[in-house]
Amino acid sequence: MSALADETRRLDQHDRLAEFRLRFALPLAADGSPALYLCGHSLGLMPTAAPALVQQELEDWARLGVRGHHEARRDWIGYAERLRPSLARLAGAREDEVVAMNSLSVNLHLLMASFYRPTGARRCIVIESGAFPSDRHAVASQIHWHGLDVDDALIELAPAQGAEDCDESQLEELLATRGAEIALVLWPGVQYRSGRAFDLARIAAAARRAGAHCGFDLAHSLGNLPHALHDADADFAAWCSYKYLNAGPGALAGAFVHARHRRADLPGLAGWWGHDPATRFRMGPEFIPATGAAGWQVSNPPILSAAPLLASLALFDEAGIEALRRKSLTMTGLLLGELDRHFSGQVQVLTPREDARRGNQLSMRLTAGRDAGRRAFEALGRMGVIADWREPDVLRVAFAPLYNSHADVARFAAALAGALADA
Ligand SMILES: *Cc1c(COP(=O)(O)O)cnc(C)c1O
Repeated sequence: MSALADETRRLDQHDRLAEFRLRFALPLAADGSPALYLCGHSLGLMPTAAPALVQQELEDWARLGVRGHHEARRDWIGYAERLRPSLARLAGAREDEVVAMNSLSVNLHLLMASFYRPTGARRCIVIESGAFPSDRHAVASQIHWHGLDVDDALIELAPAQGAEDCDESQLEELLATRGAEIALVLWPGVQYRSGRAFDLARIAAAARRAGAHCGFDLAHSLGNLPHALHDADADFAAWCSYKYLNAGPGALAGAFVHARHRRADLPGLAGWWGHDPATRFRMGPEFIPATGAAGWQVSNPPILSAAPLLASLALFDEAGIEALRRKSLTMTGLLLGELDRHFSGQVQVLTPREDARRGNQLSMRLTAGRDAGRRAFEALGRMGVIADWREPDVLRVAFAPLYNSHADVARFAAALAGALADA
């Protein structure tokens, strides 16, 4: 057995979080053996408590019909409220600064309706040049919808020569030189392709100095790293719940709006669920927003999609994001060491090495090139490794500390060695 396998076995024996793995449904490989699941960056695994919670809502619906709004074991009217304390802990926010609603790209649009208000020269949105396509489509369509020219008003910041990602200092420089033209910075918490984690407080501060709003897309970072959105002074943030939050495909997403912003003072898109709950059901014509992020809601929430999120957030509360973060850093640190020792000619790690700049995900370029790399990826699949391939040559693996074990790191390293040898 390899030195890494020995070490990871020892770490698992002393891991206080090890038992959480038993509370997830672990997928099987094609031959029926347990798969090595490293795709928490795309779709987190199902908490085994989720089906019962969904089933209870179906039963309450069957038993109660419309009365379920008030009389369900967990009343549907207040269902989204139940998610807030846990989301606030993960976001590093006050409870009234977070809300569970919609899906991610929709939330970006709703928040930009309030926080992207181009006026005169201050018309530009800054994103990274390698932004996730949905985010790029969202900001370009917002610019277009305001009657502006995307070529003029969309600034796609490119990494410096030879670098994988933009650096915080590049953003600071852009905001210092062209700040008066910038209305909004929309930036990821963790970059989906490289796995790089950004210093959100630093980015928000630079945007604020320039008089721009700052929003974060936390699709790859909420539930991955601890956040301190309130203290970072971000204007808003949005996330999905099916990646590291393990709430299932298309799950109910979430948003953060800093307490210094009041929906009542801002323009925005409204619906009855954003109305003050005290008077919502008086059904009056006037829109009186709920306080806090809840004022950005539009529709009543999908209970069947919220139930798995409730199951999942309970696990985060129990484990604690700080402890999860420590385990995550240990796992990715072990793999980085192993890649340095045994794979240096074959694999180029794209994720930064500093602890503060990486989360659960490591991205690596397979230097053999696209075709051999693709063959290695397919060989990994035959060995029961469920990972992710980004064209032309990037392998992404995530070690989710709730359900991945330290031994998964050793198993992956062994599989990778075999796959590269075959390819
Ligand atoms: C996963 C992801 C999305 C997906 O958007 P949906 O609205 O949930 O379909 C958008 N942006 C980023 C950065 C993502 O990682």
